[in-house]
Amino acid sequence: MPLDGRTAVVTGGGRGIGAAVAGALARRGASIIVAARSADRIERVANDLIAAGHRAWAVTCDVTDADSVTALLERARAHAQHVDILVNSAGAADSTPFERLTRDEWDRLLAVNATGPFLCMQTFLPGMVERGWGRIVNIASVAGLTGARYIAAYTASKHAVIGLTRSVAAEVAPRGVTVNAVCPGYVDTPMTDESLDRIVAKTGRSREDALAAILDTTPQGRLIQPEEVAHAVVALCEDDARGINGQAIVIDGGGLLA
Ligand code: NDP
Repeated sequence: MPLDGRTAVVTGGGRGIGAAVAGALARRGASIIVAARSADRIERVANDLIAAGHRAWAVTCDVTDADSVTALLERARAHAQHVDILVNSAGAADSTPFERLTRDEWDRLLAVNATGPFLCMQTFLPGMVERGWGRIVNIASVAGLTGARYIAAYTASKHAVIGLTRSVAAEVAPRGVTVNAVCPGYVDTPMTDESLDRIVAKTGRSREDALAAILDTTPQGRLIQPEEVAHAVVALCEDDARGINGQAIVIDGGGLLA
């Protein structure tokens, strides 16, 4: 298997894209540390992987808390000695017209979507550099590459993580480590379900109308599946992807064209 002997930490691994990434990496041979705040969800994901014959552990972590991220590194090393792959999928979304955007919402989204990947990258990168091999994949968003109405804080946080990706990629390029971002459009996950709930609550539209409005903005008229995002992540983690570094790979069916 291409990732035999590698260990991956997947933040946000308890559901959605992170859970799909954990499964896809495990099926390619990697051992998986599933990390998020809710113990029950990450334990379920890890137990499913173990039941399917893979090596996996659940470790609770709040990526916005530096001590919690340090503890994640220590627990990961206790379970699997070293960490070769970091996938930053922990994230949060919200939407508010800019004039009503509060400092609290701004701080909350920047903390999890930008500071979280910063803390995790700074914590896990030294071990990768020391071993001369590493892969970091940040789950950003098309919102990291373009603006849109009502999501200023989310958009700023995703632009931040893409900037972080590009600069750190330049620094580690000669050291066997690559750092890339993937930028999905709307994905069929609990995060999108919750966005639909917010649209229904704020506009009084039916759920079907809210979903139709979202699908209208997508070129293929459908939500991207989490496994499609996981497919790109896995490809970036393999040896033959060593030349792909500092990229922001869009997975949106062709809405955002280069
Ligand atoms: P979900 O809301 O379904 O899952 C988010 C995960 O992140 C959960 O496991 C959650 O677990 C975890 N998480 C949230 N906050 C923290 C925290 N502070 N520390 C650790 N873990 C945390 O989201 P998706 O799977 O849909 O999204 C994953 C990533 O992809 C996000 O960064 C999102 O912005 C991005 N994305 C999503 C898109 C979509 O349409 N769904 C589109 C483009 C990008 P817990 O609450 O237990 O900690």
